[in-house]
Amino acid sequence: MSAVRVTILADNCAAGRATRGEHGLSMHLAFGDRRILFDTGQGMVIADNARALGLDLAQVDTIVFSHGHYDHTGGLPAVMSVAREPIDIYLHPAALEPKYHVTSSGARPIGIPEAAAALRLPNSRLRLASEPVEIAPGIRTTGQIPRDPASPPPGETYHLDPCGEMADPLLDDQSLFFDTPGGLVVLLGCAHAGLVAILEHIRQLTGNRPLHAVIGGMHLGSATPDQLEALNVYLRQLSPALLVPLHCTGARACASLWTAFPEACCAGGVGVFFDFDLSAPSEAI
Ligand SMILES: [Zn+2]
Ligand SMILES: [Zn+2]
Repeated sequence: MSAVRVTILADNCAAGRATRGEHGLSMHLAFGDRRILFDTGQGMVIADNARALGLDLAQVDTIVFSHGHYDHTGGLPAVMSVAREPIDIYLHPAALEPKYHVTSSGARPIGIPEAAAALRLPNSRLRLASEPVEIAPGIRTTGQIPRDPASPPPGETYHLDPCGEMADPLLDDQSLFFDTPGGLVVLLGCAHAGLVAILEHIRQLTGNRPLHAVIGGMHLGSATPDQLEALNVYLRQLSPALLVPLHCTGARACASLWTAFPEACCAGGVGVFFDFDLSAPSEAI
């Protein structure tokens, strides 16, 4: 059985000594001799946090982007600048589209920033995919998440244009998952597709394996009390052993999850890590 260590490298909160927070998310996966980043944060803290935590970004061989927002992709140049070997970069094609947050006070670009140039460096191998991809033995992306138009996920509306006329469906939103003897471990970026839709998609991909852990941003800042309670009812059926709400989950949603799942909830923050045993290949789906 092989082990995976998931370390939070960028998050809104910092927990580890000499680490710093930013509005962003990055997780570092160590798996055998593989070093994988799931997102890179917005780029202000990833290099210093890696140094403080004793993680060598030069060893990273693969980057998976959950979606094309700046707070998940902006750290790419910092990683590419120290890369010793070519790096495989996985993302959904829609992650490359222009993206804006439009409010009454104006439009703010929130797509992939200078990182866009780093995507095309000679030492990056761009792997565009909307389907699930096995990026390392047993570790897979969800690919594009099927949506239920009747129940859109709670969250703000983002746009593809600065005038706010074309809503961004964020089809690029994808998660990372792997199976363990205790069930599935799911790593979320911002969960723009909706946590229920994401978990249902993964259960469908895995023949309804039990859920062990969910770690990541859940984007529930604008969820109503009824929506939060509906999520708790759904999660209660799956009874995960570990819930780590990070980044954009929102204070009220965190309070709701911690109240409903006091045993499973665990505080995140930069420097917090979790070890999991990957299912043996014969058990893998
Ligand atoms: Zn986002
Ligand atoms: Zn985000």
